[in-house]
Amino acid sequence: MVKVTLLKHTPDPERVVAAAARQCYSRFSATEIIEEMREENVKRLIRMVVEKGHHSVLEHAVFTFAIEDVSRACTHQLVRHRIASYSQQSHRYVKLQEIEYIVPPSIKRVEEAYRIFSEALAQCTEVYKKLLEMGIPTEDARYILPHATPTKIVVTMNARELLHVFELRTCLKAQWEIRAVAEKMLELCKKVAPTIFEKAGPPCVSKGICPEKDYKCPKWLELKEKGLVN
Ligand SMILES: Cc1cc2nc3c(=O)[nH]c(=O)nc-3n(C[C@H](O)[C@H](O)[C@H](O)COP(=O)(O)OP(=O)(O)OC[C@H]3O[C@@H](n4cnc5c(N)ncnc54)[C@H](O)[C@@H]3O)c2cc1C
Repeated sequence: MVKVTLLKHTPDPERVVAAAARQCYSRFSATEIIEEMREENVKRLIRMVVEKGHHSVLEHAVFTFAIEDVSRACTHQLVRHRIASYSQQSHRYVKLQEIEYIVPPSIKRVEEAYRIFSEALAQCTEVYKKLLEMGIPTEDARYILPHATPTKIVVTMNARELLHVFELRTCLKAQWEIRAVAEKMLELCKKVAPTIFEKAGPPCVSKGICPEKDYKCPKWLELKEKGLVN
């Protein structure tokens, strides 16, 4: 089960973003503005910059997450997002003990598929341990470990990149595990920066469009029923 924790974030992220935005159009400095702004103005400015595409100001709010109990297949997708910082548990230095592999639900629910998958994984673990016993360096023994191997990663992203990641990775077309990670990250972001992330989500939610043109998608149909898309 994917575990995502928001370790830290820019204190008062929405006020920082709003002060940066306000300063662009003001003769006053952000230092003078930041504590003076009324809450409704903070919200109004954030909505304006998100709507107008003045997205660089969103880069002043930064969020750091610890992501655990995910597969290497999942983190491989995550680290493709380049406007971020990553620190991943190293299988070069950390010897794995009892390996609790990540099993996709599609495999878990088919008895025979689960059986052959589990057997292959058990064999990977056995070979990995044997290689280590034979004195093969950990950095080489790990070559036998599959995509299902669990890992931990710390990721830092700014709000602009997060909005982009949420568009790509919370879509129902995204792969199930990275989608689970992105959905949890979004849930945590909404708690601490509700205005920045109020329209965050797949393009159907954030922009009312479906780049996949899948108008039979359950999410699209749900939004259509609520009158939120045409
Ligand atoms: C459904 C899905 C399927 C995918 N399938 C594949 C696949 O089959 N094969 C594969 O290799 N990848 C695949 N990917 C990964 C995808 O191609 C991207 O590498 C990944 O989503 C990272 O997103 P990004 O490149 O938009 O932006 P990020 O790296 O998150 O960067 C954010 C934005 O910054 C800008 N940016 C960043 N770097 C540059 C740059 N060098 N030059 C110009 N602009 C830049 C772009 O505007 C970019 O959108 C898939 C992704 C998804 C969501």
